Amino acid sequence: MKGLAHLREELEQLKAQGVFRPLTEIESAQGARVVIRGKEVIQLASNNYLGLTTHPKLKEAALKAVERYGAGTGSVRTIAGTFTMHEELEKKLAEFKHTEAALVFQSGFTANVGVLSSILDERDVVISDALNHASIIDGIRLTKAARRIYRHNDLDDLEAALKETQGYRTRLIVTDGVFSMDGDIAPLPQIVELAERYDAIVMVDDAHASGVLGKNGRGTVDHFGLHGRVHIQVGTLSKAIGVLGGYVAGSQVLRDYLIHRARPFLFSTSHPPAVTAACLSAIEVLLTEPERIERLWANTRFFKNGLKNLGFDTGNSETPITPVIVGDEALAMKLSDKLFEYGVYAQGIVYPTVPKGKARVRTIVTAVHTKEDLEAALHAFEKAGKELGII
Ligand code: PMP
Repeated sequence: MKGLAHLREELEQLKAQGVFRPLTEIESAQGARVVIRGKEVIQLASNNYLGLTTHPKLKEAALKAVERYGAGTGSVRTIAGTFTMHEELEKKLAEFKHTEAALVFQSGFTANVGVLSSILDERDVVISDALNHASIIDGIRLTKAARRIYRHNDLDDLEAALKETQGYRTRLIVTDGVFSMDGDIAPLPQIVELAERYDAIVMVDDAHASGVLGKNGRGTVDHFGLHGRVHIQVGTLSKAIGVLGGYVAGSQVLRDYLIHRARPFLFSTSHPPAVTAACLSAIEVLLTEPERIERLWANTRFFKNGLKNLGFDTGNSETPITPVIVGDEALAMKLSDKLFEYGVYAQGIVYPTVPKGKARVRTIVTAVHTKEDLEAALHAFEKAGKELGII
């Protein structure tokens, strides 16, 4: 068929660059080890930080919810798709985050898009970190507000942006709490101080801090003791929480506004009962099994030090996300392939997900990896790294 030839051309270019990939199929449950192409490998590519995807309590909650309420909800939240369980989850999330209210979205992606596209107009400006997640970028593309991008974690550039934008009604600074490709943490206390000095508001996307940073995994606001000083917190239910979804935690006014104006919330069907019940159960697990978070951090320290000691460039990571930066795109893909050969699944990440020249293999350890898993993974990295001349 004619008409889409330009797509084929671009795909041919990706193939020539060695970065065209079919999707990887996982043939087992998600966990410390998974089966891919019939082979059991150590999983270092998932966001299943606490191993909750297969937690018995979450599975039981999901099964019971299906039995009692069925497979789907049959409507958007604002028409006939709000079940008691949805409201219950939002109350639990608000309590957990120490905010007045919370609102659940279908994903972290739609939570960011929903907030950014709805709460501002041409009288306002968004001031956004250069390395913020794609969902923040897309949310900004959909707002009528002006935009100013500041250099990654650069407080001087942020201050310059605040000085340049004095005439706007609302100035919203938005940052990832933990940056997804580098694993570094935003300097939130300094960002909040600047916001207060220049009368701006702050939004944090805590996708990779939810369940990971702060008491019981409450996120970066809790980690830095900034309760009450960050206006909008976005979290995800899809990563450490082990299920699917996103949420916005903040004031009651913010929640009420989003219910009336956030388009992904208004125009897309609500989460099925199994998802909502499993999320509720996951919050309980965060509160009752804090040792999971301790194990996550112990594993993080062990693995990160191991990679550094081998001589890999792990950038500025401070969290369970550790990039192994190799620069060249094809080399990143080759490293990923070799690792698979030696029993480790860790994905190569290239432009446009990361800047050109910064291609990498990204690793994420979890609470459920054993010491043996991590030692075997380090051994695979050593072998593959030496063979490819990276270390
Ligand atoms: N924000 C960041 C920083 C992320 O890394 C992601 C997930 N890739 C999201 C938002 C989107 O979250 P979800 O997967 O729940 O849509």
